[in-house]
Amino acid sequence: MSDLGELYQQVILDHNKRPRNFRRLEEANHRADGHNPLCGDQLTVYLQMEGDVIRDIAFHGAGCAISKASASLMTESVKGKTKLEAEQIFEKMHKLLTGDPCALVETGGLGKLAVFSGVCEFPVRVKCASLAWHTLRAALEQIKEAVSTE
Ligand code: ZN
Repeated sequence: MSDLGELYQQVILDHNKRPRNFRRLEEANHRADGHNPLCGDQLTVYLQMEGDVIRDIAFHGAGCAISKASASLMTESVKGKTKLEAEQIFEKMHKLLTGDPCALVETGGLGKLAVFSGVCEFPVRVKCASLAWHTLRAALEQIKEAVSTE
């Protein structure tokens, strides 16, 4: 397995075991629900927006290790960012997860999130990894219907 593949495993395991920002956020003024029927992952993303800034973020729900780890890393990476910055990270992640060929994807500026380029090796897991990001975007845009990866 490649070094990135190994790092990927470690980060996923760590964030699955100890998910960051895993709680219901009482003060949330934005929220969205996401569902990945393919795997059964279900999560809610809570945002506390202050103007255009994500002052606080949390998620709650149940799912596989990848969906949980991805949500955990997502909350870490956008906390304190503006809506625009969060959308830019979303775009990069989207390219990273759906990139073809996956090895050539630009991961600059993504920091720890770059480990998700390892997901390309497991196509069935792409929806698990992207669920948190689609749900984040729905919360930012205040989309009322639940997000589905289908
Ligand atoms: Zn999953």
